[in-house]
Amino acid sequence: AKVADKNCFRFYSRAMDQAVERRMHLEQELRGAWDRGELSLVYQPFYRLSDGALVGAETLLRWQHPEHGMIAPSVFIDVAEQSGLIETLGPQVLRAACHDAVRWRQVREGAEPLFVSVNVSARQLRNGDLPQVVADCLRDSGLAARQLHIELTETAVIGDEAHASRLLNQLRSSGVKVWLDDFGTGFSGLSHLRRVPVDGVKIDRSFVADILRDPDDLALTTAIIAMAHSLGITVVAEGVEKEGQHDILRDRGCDLAQGYWLGHPLPVEGFMDLLRPEPMP
Ligand code: C2E
Ligand code: CA
Ligand code: CA
Ligand code: CA
Repeated sequence: AKVADKNCFRFYSRAMDQAVERRMHLEQELRGAWDRGELSLVYQPFYRLSDGALVGAETLLRWQHPEHGMIAPSVFIDVAEQSGLIETLGPQVLRAACHDAVRWRQVREGAEPLFVSVNVSARQLRNGDLPQVVADCLRDSGLAARQLHIELTETAVIGDEAHASRLLNQLRSSGVKVWLDDFGTGFSGLSHLRRVPVDGVKIDRSFVADILRDPDDLALTTAIIAMAHSLGITVVAEGVEKEGQHDILRDRGCDLAQGYWLGHPLPVEGFMDLLRPEPMP
């Protein structure tokens, strides 16, 4: 048994070495990927459930690797966070998204201006210069503060809540809206809303996924909507993949929705095609 254990250990340790190596390799390549033009942004639309209007879009990062093809953010965002690369990458994303969102006005003259939301990681928040970075991006792009939303995960605000609250209030007083992402997955989601000032919550897609067949998920979602509304907070549902999910969320009073059934993430040109009035038949 001892021998077997030893071999077992060796096997795992080799697998671990490989994982560490892959990570370091990825990190090296991610450094400079932006400058090489391998990173790009896609935009996934948000729709208002009361009238079906397209009201904004979320910015999502994509990495087109020259050899490995498309790498999912679930792989490289983690690397960027661990290595600290996110502290340069994050502001680059924010800046590019603001510049893109200004262009949306041009194809939508007279219409209600769209907002753009940008994901911000825990490390960017902890770093402390987020309000300054945001102010610079808004000034340089000419985007109005109320057209920018920041998405933060619950885990990003856990820990130093006083620090997070201070930064978030600074952002919010400038007019930028703050949303809590993946809401409901953390352990203390509800109690957070008392201490951390936010304008909206995004109900995690794991709730939305089961909303049609799991009465508990429907009950929780309905409770989140009621509670958020009683606090004056906007409710957004993500991961809407079916018409039935869309309909039930609308009927329960959810404000905004996003998901593959409504629209996939698109490069900026494709997203802007959605905004153009339908051509005459
Ligand atoms: P997230 O912020 O929760 O983003 C939603 C993810 O769900 C996106 O995956 C989106 O493409 C996907 N999605 C949208 N609709 C549906 C649907 O109907 N069904 C399913 N199954 N999935 C759907 P993506 O683009 O792979 O991003 C994964 C995560 O990576 C994001 O989760 C976010 O946490 C992170 N991320 C992406 N871009 C950035 C960024 O610029 N900065 C930071 N800090 N994180 C980012
Ligand atoms: Ca998000
Ligand atoms: Ca999410
Ligand atoms: Ca469930």
